[in-house]
Amino acid sequence: MASNSQLVEATGKYVIENYGRLPIAVDRGLGSRFWDADGKCYIDFFAGFGGAGVAGHCHPKIVEAVKNQAEKLFCHGNLHTSAPQVELAEAITRHGFGGKVFYCHSGAEANEAAIKLVRLAARGGQRKSDGPYKIISFDNCFHGRTMGSLSITPESFGAGFEPMLPGSVKVPFGDIDAVRAAIDDQTAGVFVEPIQAEGGMNIPTVEFMQGLRGLCDEKQILLVCDEVWTAPARTGKWYAHQHFGIEPDVMTLAKAIGGGAPLAAMVAAPKYADILVPGTHGCTMGGNPLCASAAVAMMKLIEDQDLVTAARQKGERIVKAISEANLGCIKEIRSKGLLIGMEIDPAIEAKDLWLTCLEKGLWVCIAKGNVLRLAPALTIGEADIVEGLEILISVIRAI
Ligand code: PLP
Repeated sequence: MASNSQLVEATGKYVIENYGRLPIAVDRGLGSRFWDADGKCYIDFFAGFGGAGVAGHCHPKIVEAVKNQAEKLFCHGNLHTSAPQVELAEAITRHGFGGKVFYCHSGAEANEAAIKLVRLAARGGQRKSDGPYKIISFDNCFHGRTMGSLSITPESFGAGFEPMLPGSVKVPFGDIDAVRAAIDDQTAGVFVEPIQAEGGMNIPTVEFMQGLRGLCDEKQILLVCDEVWTAPARTGKWYAHQHFGIEPDVMTLAKAIGGGAPLAAMVAAPKYADILVPGTHGCTMGGNPLCASAAVAMMKLIEDQDLVTAARQKGERIVKAISEANLGCIKEIRSKGLLIGMEIDPAIEAKDLWLTCLEKGLWVCIAKGNVLRLAPALTIGEADIVEGLEILISVIRAI
């Protein structure tokens, strides 16, 4: 078998280097651990970058579902339907605000779909060449890398790729007056992450989120919650907007929703569920039965094992352990369930802590604002939590 260094070198030769990859080739994973091509084991406190966010790597129930489905049918295009698509949409909507689901593969694509739906809804469902088009989003948000989702993400991500979509307006996160001031008769909708994960684990107030809901109702524009990082179940609720006592008009899902397979979804509330009619949008492989079967098995695990409660309890347990370790360089811990951010004193680079953890066999991540981030699988066991925390705390202490 090829070694880490052989695979990393070959990657540099054949695969476009747009990621700043680490010198590690991942060979296999199980639960909250993975092994590299040299056989080194890592505890995964960042669950496959969120993709394996619910059940970790290769959960036997998900593997079984995918194996069974692989022997029956991989894909069929979207002029047909199939049982996994239906079962998944039923589960997604039952735990949320009803409505209907559109399937695609990535968070950026789900947000593209939402941008189109928002524009169409603002035009009364009519495909007109003019009408409300502006979208308000927030400083420090992240909605993806396609041109539409990039347009509603802070300018720095899109610098050099301009022009962006016209009418993309950014306002300070948490500032309801700024949102009100930014709305005019060309505004179609507002995109918000109920918790900004990439942006530094920024948690808004209930007043702000409820204010947004009220403002969108008052101005008759759509509220879109980007729950790509926060759902399903990660924050101790099925969907993070439920912490704020609101329901969005549209919600986007990706990362963990596929149970580790590439699947994403846009959910439209009942009022907007029939806006996208044939010809308005599409995705050939969206909701293909192979990926949808993994997602159905994953949703069932959340239900059967009450992983919503597990996320809350395990999150509290980890935050308590870190707090009690009295690590002077942690300025603040911001968390909801198993989405945890530690803001590190500016004298120390969170990036250095991240890379030292990796060296010691613990995979965590960083976010904007010198934040060290944890997002382990909701199924993570106590032994992995203990071992992971030991590494984390000793690394931070040593610095
Ligand atoms: N939305 C949010 C909140 C994200 O955090 C991300 C990616 O990190 C995206 C959208 C884009 O998702 P993807 O990388 O699947 O396109």
